Amino acid sequence: MIRRIAVILCLLGSIALEAQQPAPAAAPRASVPRAIRRDVPLTNSIRRAYDAGTRDTTGRPGPNYWQLQTDYTIAARLDSATQTITGTESIELHNNSPEALTEIVLRLDHNIFRGLVPRGLSYPAENTDGMVVSKIAVNGDTVDLAASPPAGGGGRGGRGAAPRRLAASGLDQTVARISLATPIAAKATATVQIAWRTKLPGGPDGRGHRMTQRIDDTLFQPTQWFPRIAKYDDLRGWDTSLYLGPAEFYNNFGRFDVKIDVPGGWIVSGTGVLQNPQEVLTAKARERLTHVLDSNDVITIVGEDESGPGLSTAPGDRLVWHFKADVVNDFAWATAKNYVWRATRATIPGKGPVPIHMVYVPSHANLYTNAGPITRHALEFYSKLWAPYPFPQLTLQDGPSSGMEYPMVINSNQGAADHETGHQWWPMVVGNNETWYGWMDEGFNQYMNILSGADSRGTAPVLDGLGQSYGRTSGDENEATMMWAANNAGSMYGFQTYSKTPLMLSMLGGIVGDAEVQRAMSEYTKAWSFKHPSPWDYINFMDKALGRDLQWFWYYWLWTTESVDGAIAGVSTAGAKTTVTVRQDGQMPSPVVLKVELAAGGPAVKPMANARMIDDKTAIVTWPVDVWFLGSRTFQAPLDFGGRAITKITLDPGCRFPDRDPSDNVWPKPAPSETPAPRQGFGGRGTCGE
Ligand SMILES: [Zn+2]
Repeated sequence: MIRRIAVILCLLGSIALEAQQPAPAAAPRASVPRAIRRDVPLTNSIRRAYDAGTRDTTGRPGPNYWQLQTDYTIAARLDSATQTITGTESIELHNNSPEALTEIVLRLDHNIFRGLVPRGLSYPAENTDGMVVSKIAVNGDTVDLAASPPAGGGGRGGRGAAPRRLAASGLDQTVARISLATPIAAKATATVQIAWRTKLPGGPDGRGHRMTQRIDDTLFQPTQWFPRIAKYDDLRGWDTSLYLGPAEFYNNFGRFDVKIDVPGGWIVSGTGVLQNPQEVLTAKARERLTHVLDSNDVITIVGEDESGPGLSTAPGDRLVWHFKADVVNDFAWATAKNYVWRATRATIPGKGPVPIHMVYVPSHANLYTNAGPITRHALEFYSKLWAPYPFPQLTLQDGPSSGMEYPMVINSNQGAADHETGHQWWPMVVGNNETWYGWMDEGFNQYMNILSGADSRGTAPVLDGLGQSYGRTSGDENEATMMWAANNAGSMYGFQTYSKTPLMLSMLGGIVGDAEVQRAMSEYTKAWSFKHPSPWDYINFMDKALGRDLQWFWYYWLWTTESVDGAIAGVSTAGAKTTVTVRQDGQMPSPVVLKVELAAGGPAVKPMANARMIDDKTAIVTWPVDVWFLGSRTFQAPLDFGGRAITKITLDPGCRFPDRDPSDNVWPKPAPSETPAPRQGFGGRGTCGE
């Protein structure tokens, strides 16, 4: 009893004493135990998919996985004088879902040119009439476009007892609906016919937004240029996300059969394979094309001095170019009065050579000097990294848009050739939902560009430092989490969609090894080729492929903007044993990784079970993230090297874990004159690296 009273008095005394101290410099929360979340949120959409067996926790397509297929047959005519494309299309919509479709949602991206629709932070300079739809028929029944939209909207039969009727609404918006009188039954196919026209917008400078689609009336770069069937999936049904400009696409896979009618002498490039070279090319060009796959030389198919009907193309006032593509999620093309056409090859492992085509105006020749070799390196490197390039060709198209990707087509010169080629894997092969989850597209691409860039220079990629650098961004109130739909990411759209993913994958490499990250991503690419993974599929797949429960990792990176904020809070030695007090002030946990440098002489170095010697007096000692799961903010890391003196300890030596202030990661604290300058930007090695 007496002892207990004494203890209570001591505690009261210390509390009273503390109350007189000035407030601590550290954030108040640092003294509060933290709860580590060890799973990821499940939204209603992914719960539905798990329940239906379309997706599951293996991260592979579930036993009941399905996706719509849309096969397009398009005939389009370009009138260069009015800068207008007039088209008709017939779409076979294969409803592979287990439900009847009571409506069809259309994407009319060109309505963004109307200027009267919602737009994001970037949009084209010229306003037009947008996508003007003049006819819609479903299974032969024509929609009365003059009729008012159905009551109640949404095409689900409206309110009350109003009979279901065939009708369209929203044709002046980027997303429109056709409500059906007769639903399209599960597993049935419907034919949708649409007639339309659209003027391709230029701009005062003919440059800028990727949707600027022409230079005067001599070069056209049509993209998102025809009415498309929106994506319908097992997660949310119809994708009704508006096209706002910045966030990109989520499209169905299917076949394309496209005929493009242009003035004679104008070269046309596009998605797919040209079906009628004998009708549109000269004999000379056809002969030159037979040599493209012979070597890595860049050869001329149509030269600058070959211009006009009979020289650049077959003779004739108008020519119809016919392209076909199997299993792609879009179709883009370009044409110009005076394109130069050059070509080379890339050799795809396990497949052989495929052609790389380049079409550009003569005045841009200097932007294409290195485009062939850069694109070849990208196709070959990414084929080895993820999965072999599956398409029969790749074309670089010159024009006002010089940084945009479509299947088999990149609107790019050499400047963005590596990045835009990377997009052939996402979203052209792995059809992720870019509109919502830009990080699964642009973010993965940024990561692979780091690897490709290093490979092309013959150096090792620098991934050290990237993960740690996020600590300097974490806490910015403008940052949306990565799971927040990219359309709503605001002023930090670029960071959320592009820059943050390589930082996340740098930390992942710091936990499992960079080679393991890349192996798992390669398996993920193959498992989801020509399918549509969700973030949960990616998370589950990676956990399985890496053989680890990393849900805590995905939770903090994808659903929060938290960081680790690690520090060495103290070091004490008693006999042969040294205890390092490691502290984490952030909400994100991480494994504890210490680089321990030992004195040159002394007792023999005793190995530690969780240590890896990188030379005879330097060890990397690791404890798993689990040491934080009980909630303490400090971890006592025991070191025992058999009595050999320790000269220096560095926390997170690879700089992989987000840290606001890495200067407190070193023991003993360097004298002020020895303090290294703060690390600059992303990727700076600084003092990082084992
Ligand atoms: Zn991109």
